[in-house]
Amino acid sequence: MKSMGDVSIKLEHLVKQHGDTLAVDDLSLEIRRGEFFSILGPSGSGKTTTLRLIAGLDQPDGGSLSIEGQLMQDLPPNQRPVNMVFQNYALFPHLTVWKNVSFGLEMKGLSRREIIPKVEQVLDMVQLGEKQNRVPAQLSGGEQQRVALARALVNRPAVLLLDEPLGALDQQLRQEMQGELKLIQERVGITFVFVTHHQEEALIMSDRVAVMNGGRVIQVGTPQELYETPGSTFVARFVGHSNCLDGEVASMDGTTCTFRSDGVSPIQVPCPGHSLEVGRGTFIIRPERLCLTRNAQPNGFENHLPVRIQKARYIGDEMQYQFDLAPNVRWMARLPISSRHHERFHPGEQVFVSWKAHEGLILTS
Ligand code: ADP
Ligand code: MG
Repeated sequence: MKSMGDVSIKLEHLVKQHGDTLAVDDLSLEIRRGEFFSILGPSGSGKTTTLRLIAGLDQPDGGSLSIEGQLMQDLPPNQRPVNMVFQNYALFPHLTVWKNVSFGLEMKGLSRREIIPKVEQVLDMVQLGEKQNRVPAQLSGGEQQRVALARALVNRPAVLLLDEPLGALDQQLRQEMQGELKLIQERVGITFVFVTHHQEEALIMSDRVAVMNGGRVIQVGTPQELYETPGSTFVARFVGHSNCLDGEVASMDGTTCTFRSDGVSPIQVPCPGHSLEVGRGTFIIRPERLCLTRNAQPNGFENHLPVRIQKARYIGDEMQYQFDLAPNVRWMARLPISSRHHERFHPGEQVFVSWKAHEGLILTS
């Protein structure tokens, strides 16, 4: 019996060239059954091409691809157990919601008796049963998105491919749809491969995320793994905000090392076993791990450096402070605004930035 967690999609050394561009460059990935899997990367990183290869809309120049244990070579898109939802929905404007959803089943030659319960069930799932007689122009953007989803789900594919499906929605609707999509995925229990360039969206929705750049997978992990233990400066910068400092690991002493950078006092960093060698690297720390004070070094904070506040931004539930650790090294600290105690700092003010040694990370690639 097939069960959740088995491999649903296996990509091995996939290559796709578009003219001179290597759109997908030796890409290998395993996506598990029932997983909400996101492919996250900047524009042009090869996300859409990867989805099109899975769907069979593009043919690879090399490598292999199997879905549910079956090699997809030479299998046309309509015979693959996948369906794709496009960013622009591609709904039929003159057809009702019901007809948009039933169209594919009619084309397949199913009888009305077979079609009706399938369409009813899927419209129920996306909560559009009451709007089944409307045409797309009479629906909101979010509702149109749900019709596109219903149309893709009505065939009961093993895998649903979604290419930036929320890209056309405004911020608030986008957030609502993020929650709904996730609920729908949990309800139907099929594999979702979700493409986005929006890092926050990928973190919120996914079981696991593959970060892509230049046609390659840079790192695969759970949202927490990517955020807390990025394997490269690319991932550290692309997934959430990172404060970075280039320099070198100067000396190691048991569990802490000293990191040096021109114009900055030595920084204490964690030294995880033998994985770190003396040499050049980039120090990384997240803005919410930093603490600002007017003078005293807080207890247990090994690092304590003087800086001058450049900018202070009020975000409602937090303050964001920008300062230069060294010339051309601008950092940000994010401090939650708690109702009980909150110290405010002002641009131009001299303060100290402090953090615990173990909150930092050294990356060498
Ligand atoms: P993403 O979806 O991450 O933005 P794409 O997969 O669309 O990236 O594109 C990856 C690269 O391949 C880009 O450099 C893009 O310009 C190029 N590309 C994509 N499709 C085509 C095409 N049909 N013809 C030529 N180049 C293409
Ligand atoms: Mg794309």
